[in-house]
Amino acid sequence: TKWVYSFGGGKAEGRADMAELLGGKGANLAEMSFLGLPVPPGLTIVSDACTHYYLHNRNFPDGLKAAVVEGLQKLEQLSGRKFGGKANPLLLAVRSGSRVSMPGMMDTVLNLGLNDQTVAALADDTGDPRFAWDSYRRFIEMYGGVVMGLGHDIFEEILEDEKARLGRELDTDMTGEEWQGVVGRYKEMLEEEVGQTFPEDPMSQLWGAIGAIFASWTNPRALSYRLMHNIPADWGTAVNIQVMVFGNLGNSSATGVAFTRNPSTGVRELYGEFLVNAQGEDVVAGIRTPQSITERARIETGSDRPSMEKLMPEAFEAFLAVCNRLENHYRDMLDLEFTIERGKLWMLQARSGKRTAKAAMRVAVDMVEEGLITAADAVDRIDPSSLDQLLHPTIDPSARRDVIGTGLPASPGAASGEIVFTSEGAIAAEKEGRKVILVRTETSPEDIHGMQAAQGILTTRGGMTSHAAVVARGMGLPCVCGVGSLRVDMRNRELVAQGVKLREGDIISIDGSSGHVLKGFQPMLQPELSGDFERIMGWADRIRRMKVRTNAETPSDARAARAFGAEGIGLCRTEHMFFEGGRINVMREMILAESVEERRSALNLLLPMQREDFVELFEIMHGTPITIRLLDPPLHEFLPKSEEEIEEVAGRIGMASSHLRERIDALHEFNPMLGHRGCRLHISHPEIVEMQARAIFEAAVIAARKTGEAVEPEIMVPVVGLKAELDYVKARIDEVARSVIEESGMTIHYLVGTMIELPRAALRAHVIAEVAEFFSYGTNDLTQTTFGMSRDDASAFLPTYMQKGIIERDPFVNLDFDGVGELIKIAAERGRRTRPGLKLGICGEHGGDPSSIAFCEEAGLDYVSCSPFRVPIAKLAAAQATI
Ligand code: ADP
Ligand code: MG
Ligand code: MG
Repeated sequence: TKWVYSFGGGKAEGRADMAELLGGKGANLAEMSFLGLPVPPGLTIVSDACTHYYLHNRNFPDGLKAAVVEGLQKLEQLSGRKFGGKANPLLLAVRSGSRVSMPGMMDTVLNLGLNDQTVAALADDTGDPRFAWDSYRRFIEMYGGVVMGLGHDIFEEILEDEKARLGRELDTDMTGEEWQGVVGRYKEMLEEEVGQTFPEDPMSQLWGAIGAIFASWTNPRALSYRLMHNIPADWGTAVNIQVMVFGNLGNSSATGVAFTRNPSTGVRELYGEFLVNAQGEDVVAGIRTPQSITERARIETGSDRPSMEKLMPEAFEAFLAVCNRLENHYRDMLDLEFTIERGKLWMLQARSGKRTAKAAMRVAVDMVEEGLITAADAVDRIDPSSLDQLLHPTIDPSARRDVIGTGLPASPGAASGEIVFTSEGAIAAEKEGRKVILVRTETSPEDIHGMQAAQGILTTRGGMTSHAAVVARGMGLPCVCGVGSLRVDMRNRELVAQGVKLREGDIISIDGSSGHVLKGFQPMLQPELSGDFERIMGWADRIRRMKVRTNAETPSDARAARAFGAEGIGLCRTEHMFFEGGRINVMREMILAESVEERRSALNLLLPMQREDFVELFEIMHGTPITIRLLDPPLHEFLPKSEEEIEEVAGRIGMASSHLRERIDALHEFNPMLGHRGCRLHISHPEIVEMQARAIFEAAVIAARKTGEAVEPEIMVPVVGLKAELDYVKARIDEVARSVIEESGMTIHYLVGTMIELPRAALRAHVIAEVAEFFSYGTNDLTQTTFGMSRDDASAFLPTYMQKGIIERDPFVNLDFDGVGELIKIAAERGRRTRPGLKLGICGEHGGDPSSIAFCEEAGLDYVSCSPFRVPIAKLAAAQATI
């Protein structure tokens, strides 16, 4: 095995595309060196060595030591210095660097190789004892922290004490002798605290640092970061051993960090900070306030401290040239670290710069115009999920945040408002023009209107797929779920946080992108869909093959989706329409009816309401296809639950409450998800599908007359497993169609299709396709039925599954390609064998998830359908899937 790769002197054994092996830092140092840029020479120990270290009881692999020693000789040659030398000593930076950047998570040790002898040699060489002793004390601080495990405070205390004793205000005011004094005290303290003398031997210093960096891969900070970002343990970290250059060698030296473009706006302007006479960590640590690199930025910030451009014009010009060279080479905006030693520029790090969604758009569009990348590259570079940032208000990042709890970031966007604990409260507040956040333990279908009236939703229970989360995402409302540290005390109408009690009417804010719950109002930044956004979306539209539809049932959702460019409705859930205002009571009468006549008379009341809904929807979506799903959920979902509600409903519909209770009991199901729902309802009570079909066709006639454009409804039958089920329901629909056509004298083109949400339907797709004119994959249910796992109950074990590595991704969020995906492909292939050109779509929540969308492209679907606010995300992801 080759454990060590070297770079330096215009050469490199590695390249930028070897980050898996060399880590991001090592790979890019190699690339820059290969390009002939000024990079201090160095070695990279491959990340496999770290993996080996953990697999073998924290032992270094055989051959590593020899390779490092050999590499060190190369560094000595290139630098003309000697490691541990009594003259001209070579000092090293030992730097961690994993495959993906984990900012601030792991450790770095600078100035390694200093001891009581080499420090004197360094002072001689440079003629600057102050610098030599300053470097030495920095080394002991870092080594003491990283390798010997001491906290930073303990060094800080000694330093403050010495400075006070000597009457020095700034670190830069300290003389060489004074730093020497600090070094002495540091060493005494180390012996006392650790019971070990400071290692003077440079080689043991080096192996101590390498081991500590391997060990830092599993420190608690790194562990939790990796967990959060899904970084597997076996990636390990590489270690870079690099010749030191000194930014603290007097006033012609400096260190800094810069972005080649503005990372928050994307504007093409060098953006960064530097510190004179300082070493690396000083810039980030905030010990001194850094200065602007460009004169322009200095003027903008009104600083009276000179810019690097003014102070070190030659180094500045050299740096500008490097920035341009690197941008042209990487064709990307970069985040750079550099040091200037006595006027000479050295590059220490390059990586792709993190940027806001807005900046990402701007940079991509500009780079297309600059001829650096193609439109397809630009489309490919935008993280679709980051569009959420652009489509919703966000909390002004410069505002002070008073976080009182953190839950799941269930639906993006942020909002402030008064606390209300009931849906009625939210609706009343909306009428008075007050803004509220609806705070509940959890929500249920009856809360839909309260949710709509609120600015945002907060629940103390429930996960990413809880009712509140799903509905909020659909409405484009910010939502934070499952904030376990908060408690809703309904009796006293209080929200209890650790140490804080908030009452109804108090103001809170939620940030559905971070999961934060904050006290008081927060200033918001409004979304702005700039020209850059439109251009990227325009390119995406040209590139993608699949259509993007929306899941919508209310006029406002449909309008929002159209504004975002939805190309039709892929799922209109008719049951949501029955929760509206007084309809729920008519619906209840229908459900509780004890004869077909009673049921028909209730349905007759629902018919005009439903028809009106469809007319409006057809008008808004005119010219696009609309898929309407027949009533799907088990009926008892519409019935009252609490005793209070039962009494009330009994009174309203004129039924004895004891009788009502009996009827509710009779409708009770042990497992409603697998019970009397979907097409089973329409087969038991065909009058329901007949009413719905009539409402749809009559609405189609009315809307067509109004808009002059024909409406071609696609009627979708849910929970089909048998062809005969679909036969039966389709016959009812066709019959109604015939009579509406006859009554109206107008032809109506319509399709009848089915959801594919049961494994049996997927397997029998070739037979079902004899009847079905389209398929729509209901992947929420298909995932539940394939896994045999209820998504409402999965939160009890899925997190454990993920923690223990039993399953990698939540299949309700990211489509399970192997199992559910296989069924999707089987159904597509078998369905199209019977009916070539069979229209295929997806309408589960996966329709808005970029990785699932990529799968749909591969499976040959015609469209995906998602909630209105995810339409742009889906369009972008659909385009990327073709690249
Ligand atoms: P991180 O991954 O936390 O950014 P780095 O390995 O980049 O850690 O090191 C942090 C800082 O240490 C760098 O920004 C740089 O200023 C300084 N540094 C790293 N390597 C060298 C070096 N060879 N010479 C001088 N300073 C260095
Ligand atoms: Mg760095
Ligand atoms: Mg379903």
